[in-house]
Amino acid sequence: MASLPEIKGFLETSFTDWRGRVAAVVFLARCNFRCPYCHNHRIVTSPHEVPTWPWLEVKSRLSRLRGWVDGVCVTGGEPTLHPGLPALLERFRALGFRIKLDTNGSRPGVLASLLEAGLVDQVALDVKAPLEPVPYRRNAGSGSDPEIVAATLELLSPLSVPLELRTTVHPALLSREELCRLGKDLGRRFGGRPGQVRWILQRCRAEEVLDPGLRSAPLLSPEEFAVWEHAARAAFSEVDPMPVGALATARKPG
Ligand code: SF4
Repeated sequence: MASLPEIKGFLETSFTDWRGRVAAVVFLARCNFRCPYCHNHRIVTSPHEVPTWPWLEVKSRLSRLRGWVDGVCVTGGEPTLHPGLPALLERFRALGFRIKLDTNGSRPGVLASLLEAGLVDQVALDVKAPLEPVPYRRNAGSGSDPEIVAATLELLSPLSVPLELRTTVHPALLSREELCRLGKDLGRRFGGRPGQVRWILQRCRAEEVLDPGLRSAPLLSPEEFAVWEHAARAAFSEVDPMPVGALATARKPG
């Protein structure tokens, strides 16, 4: 049996990582993507430099949070890289928690088996760019493969599991036209599931991102971002007139 993944970060309570719920957050190390705007790059590129939380400590804290915290959000890094992820999720289940999984969509087979085992109650999937090699690799690095992310979207589109699609917007990495193209594609795939599927656009924050060159690159102002978002949602709705959720600026990309 695979050993439990090392837990590289633990938040007892968050009001932003699982919309509408109070959640604890567990961060797992490593990622197969290299998004220039990644804020969690220490656990992505140098996980050995980050202390590991002992499982018994996490368990003890979670046990005290029962009744106050609704669920556990498992994020990273990329959680699906860890062979011991199912065992970790089973432990959260045994403690009585619901589970939200954040993923970059690079392991559809792992995600499918977790869903089949009933170990995930909500999925948050990063969709970095239109599903084409050039914009995808510009936003997520050469290790990313948009065809595999497309397979994850195909996996999720007929399922009823609540889904958050997340796209981080930095004008140096993604053009408005590309964002609208993505909106149209997501609208085609998910526009018929309002209430179950939300598309969250996040305005990139520049501080402490993985790529130092991005730290001084001009960002969209809030007003410019609102215009881009409006255009992207119009592209989404062009395919299906039902809206899918509202603007939100989440704490963490990835
Ligand atoms: S933003 Fe997410 S997918 Fe991208 S490198 Fe960071 S953890 Fe990986």
